[in-house]
Amino acid sequence: KVRTRIAPSPTGDPHVGTAYIALFNLCFARQHGGEFILRIEDTDQLRSTRESEQQIFDALRWLGIEWNEGPDVGGPHGPYRQSERGAIYKKYSDELVAKGHAFPCFCSAERLDQVRAEQMAKKETPRYDGHCIHIAPDVAQQRIAAGESHVVRMKVPSEGVCVVPDMLRGDVEIPWDRMDMQVLMKADGLPTYFLANVVDDHLMEITHVLRGEEWLPSAPKLIKLYEYFGWEQPKLCYMPLLRNPDKSKLSKRKNPTCITFYERMGYMPEALLNYLGRMGWSMPDEREKFSLAEMIEHFDLSRVSLGGPIFDVEKLSWLNGQWLRELPVEDFAKRVQDWAFNSQYLMQIAPHVQGRVETFGDIAPLASFFFSGGVQLDAKLLEHKKLSPDQVRQALQLLLWELEALRQWDKEKITASIQFVCEGLGLKLRDLMPLIFPAITGKASSVSVLDAMEILGADLARFRLRQAIE
Ligand code: ATP
Ligand code: GLU
Repeated sequence: KVRTRIAPSPTGDPHVGTAYIALFNLCFARQHGGEFILRIEDTDQLRSTRESEQQIFDALRWLGIEWNEGPDVGGPHGPYRQSERGAIYKKYSDELVAKGHAFPCFCSAERLDQVRAEQMAKKETPRYDGHCIHIAPDVAQQRIAAGESHVVRMKVPSEGVCVVPDMLRGDVEIPWDRMDMQVLMKADGLPTYFLANVVDDHLMEITHVLRGEEWLPSAPKLIKLYEYFGWEQPKLCYMPLLRNPDKSKLSKRKNPTCITFYERMGYMPEALLNYLGRMGWSMPDEREKFSLAEMIEHFDLSRVSLGGPIFDVEKLSWLNGQWLRELPVEDFAKRVQDWAFNSQYLMQIAPHVQGRVETFGDIAPLASFFFSGGVQLDAKLLEHKKLSPDQVRQALQLLLWELEALRQWDKEKITASIQFVCEGLGLKLRDLMPLIFPAITGKASSVSVLDAMEILGADLARFRLRQAIE
């Protein structure tokens, strides 16, 4: 039975790239009457958070992507969160060491840095020099028993090529001398991506792995691990990465990459999913607008094209317009209401407008920016009596970077970011606030901008700052 999976790391905003890869895995599985699994790869303890994990679930569900097994729905192959599978990885790591396919490495960070520096000076590719590979197993065990800090590294061939059978490209040859002796278990006892991914795909009976092309160069290490364990390797498919209109890899510097951004901007989930389905793939009859069910029905990997698909927000908007106009008008009205005219959102706004209006009719002129994606910004509003236009842009850019790094979005954290930028630039709050105000609201005056930013949310607030800078 076909089983595919998506294995996101919950280390940041839910990425459209994750939805794109999830969509193709889902279609492939469903088309073959198979199952689609969601696994959370949270072995990077420092960067992984439960909030980010929840955002991934919510964002995928908003899009209409459902999974048969996962941390939140359970299933027979759990737990589906790698942080809860520690003992499993330890067992398999020990097995590799016992079989002589991996070895404990006691090298200090200083020694590794020094080796790397020497290799760089000789213009060699930096890689582990094999220092600990010859330590006798019993000596290594004694050092481990004595509590010495260590990692576990895999052995890799030093010559020859690895053939990666890719469902899209055919056999791809990658020389072994490009592969490092990858760390499989870190000093903290947690596995790296490589070990955890192979072990889990095997134990979760994954038959086909569709993942981003960025992982193709490291495929030999995964293939070697399957071989060391004596496991059948799943079929591999390396999907072309999404690109910005300038062909560079899609990045949030150039294009919003967060799924919730599109929700807050007022896109329909069906349209975004449809657009992601158009990324490197087309319907047999080339029609642009299609539903998930239609995509599943006609799905065929041979229609994936390898040229990097361009994620173009203007094209997405066009497609969204098609979807939107075909909605029955009652449905349209209902969706508008759910988007920004629901009582929960209105209750957030109400306390800030109630004291500032005389009639309900005054609300829209005062607070229209709560009900739009971007804002029309009159450049005059960004003129500053002390700062040059370049300094204005610099201050807003610094603020944007600060806000992009915020993990928690509330008034206190936003205020702290603004204060931090002020201190850095030797400005007073009253110098910076008159710039932030119009950037966020498009107006010279309205409700408190800090409240407005909190209510609008990180996606829209950042987007508007970015617009003001451009
Ligand atoms: P950014 O450059 O915008 O910060 P990133 O590459 O750091 O993005 P990650 O957090 O590493 O983003 O990726 C999140 C998920 O989205 C990963 O599963 C990754 O494979 C996927 N992803 C990131 N960029 C792309 C892309 N251009 N195309 C397809 N998938 C992508
Ligand atoms: N955790 C990896 C990621 O975030 C999974 C990659 C894979 O599919 O193997 O992209």
